[in-house]
Amino acid sequence: MEFTRVKNFIDGEFVEEAGVEYLTIYNPSTGEQIGELPLSSTETAQKAIDSSYEAYLSWKNLPIAKRVSYLFNLRQKMIDKREDLAVAIATDQAKHISEARGEVQRVIEIMETACSIPTLIQGETLEGISDNINGRVIKQPLGVFGGVAPFNFPALVFGWFIPYAIGTGNTFIFKPSEQSPLFMQKMGEIFHAIGLPKGVVNIVNGDRVVADTWYDSPKMAGVCLVGSTATAKKMAEACGRGGKRSMLLGGAKNVLLAMEDCNHELFISNFINSCYGSAGQRCLAGSIVAVVDEIYDELLEKMVEAAKNLIFGDAMDPDVYMGPVISAQAKARIEDYIQIGIDQGSRLALDGRNPPMPEKNENGYFVGPTIFADVTPCRRIAQEEIFGPVVSVMKVSDLDEAIGIINASPFGNGACIFTQNLYYTEKFIQEVNAGMIGVNVGICAPHPYLPFGGIKDSHLGTNKVQGKDGIDFFTQNKIATVRYAPPAGYVEKVTRRTETAGVRSCVAA
Ligand code: NAD
Repeated sequence: MEFTRVKNFIDGEFVEEAGVEYLTIYNPSTGEQIGELPLSSTETAQKAIDSSYEAYLSWKNLPIAKRVSYLFNLRQKMIDKREDLAVAIATDQAKHISEARGEVQRVIEIMETACSIPTLIQGETLEGISDNINGRVIKQPLGVFGGVAPFNFPALVFGWFIPYAIGTGNTFIFKPSEQSPLFMQKMGEIFHAIGLPKGVVNIVNGDRVVADTWYDSPKMAGVCLVGSTATAKKMAEACGRGGKRSMLLGGAKNVLLAMEDCNHELFISNFINSCYGSAGQRCLAGSIVAVVDEIYDELLEKMVEAAKNLIFGDAMDPDVYMGPVISAQAKARIEDYIQIGIDQGSRLALDGRNPPMPEKNENGYFVGPTIFADVTPCRRIAQEEIFGPVVSVMKVSDLDEAIGIINASPFGNGACIFTQNLYYTEKFIQEVNAGMIGVNVGICAPHPYLPFGGIKDSHLGTNKVQGKDGIDFFTQNKIATVRYAPPAGYVEKVTRRTETAGVRSCVAA
């Protein structure tokens, strides 16, 4: 496989970062070294701020149709290059190639939604607040935004941030995850190919040093993150100190609830996709399965049977369902959690540790589907985010107990119920404290037209990503109060009152 020395993309050009430490990038399917990534310096991060600020001064004044034409071109180039983009994701992040293709497709759909920014960004007018006074709300861009991505959605997070930010007239500095930077290298080529004006998007690779330059810079307007709650909290503090607008999506611990009337076949296929798709490394992955006691034994047996038969292996193998986890450290952390589950007395119904792998993948980072049964809510495996293919199954007596367990979690990203019962459905939607709810779906990810994001520790800041929330985050409302009076010497021939009287008298005649 070709070895990639990752470059920054600053002021419209790829630039090699010199004189800094480089981190190795691995292919998690094989453990092979596939590239290296610079830990960019503060000076480079500062250069990106200057470049994006300079670009902002003219980009914000570009006619909106012209700005959006760049989004149309980005979308078309992504369609042309979709397989290349998917392979990049399936290589350094080792998301299975079929899911990587799905991720790229989702970003294309986000781009399509963002292409309607000329409609979405429209303000409001209130006429006749008082005699000759109108009010108007205008949505304007703020300046330069910085965004930090997690390893698990290198493309989706680009889609959540950049089309909305630049479509509304801001410019953007993107810091990819150190572990999955290849997708953004491809996007840099696309920005170049469509002639996106320099500095409208800068890509700076590295670690927290890049974001540390943003909080106190007067040239920066705001900061976005998708990552763990620990990182979100640190960034929230820094944004608070620096007075920066922030949109920070954090970690998760999502519950799938199976009620006694659920369709078992539908539940099992959704359980597999939710809990083991992307090897459980999704912010909307099911991590806890709560089952009411009438069907607990039967459903548990079906879950173990289905999970046991999952084929996992190389992310590029079309016959495989589930790829590896992201790194040797992630594998060790997940295996530690499995040991904690055993030590705290949960029953290991399916053990995914140390799966036999073909020679090519012997050094890959694989954990097979794992299921703990009879887990109680206070166990660490039921409370903490594991972010791997490990599921805790709990027996609950009824809907109320399940809602109580979900609401006791500090996280509030997603929760799904499987039932045909309208009362259960509506009560679940009303009472569960999670930002995204699923009914008979295992991954409750909203479509790009709608906002996406959790509540509680899963989301710091106010706005969610996508949809109208995305527009609101990347714009500020300006409110104009306009009194209009005739200039000196102007004699009104028709006023609102006389015009109305005229119409009346015409009708009367
Ligand atoms: P992470 O928090 O370790 O890292 C995310 C990004 O933050 C990386 O680019 C990293 O370099 C950067 N970073 C780390 N510390 C930082 C700091 N102090 N200041 C600035 N940047 C910093 O997360 P990860 O392991 O890459 O991703 C997995 C996590 O992301 C999970 O917790 C998952 O739930 C979460 N996630 C959430 C959503 C969501 O929509 N809520 C979506 C995807 C992933």
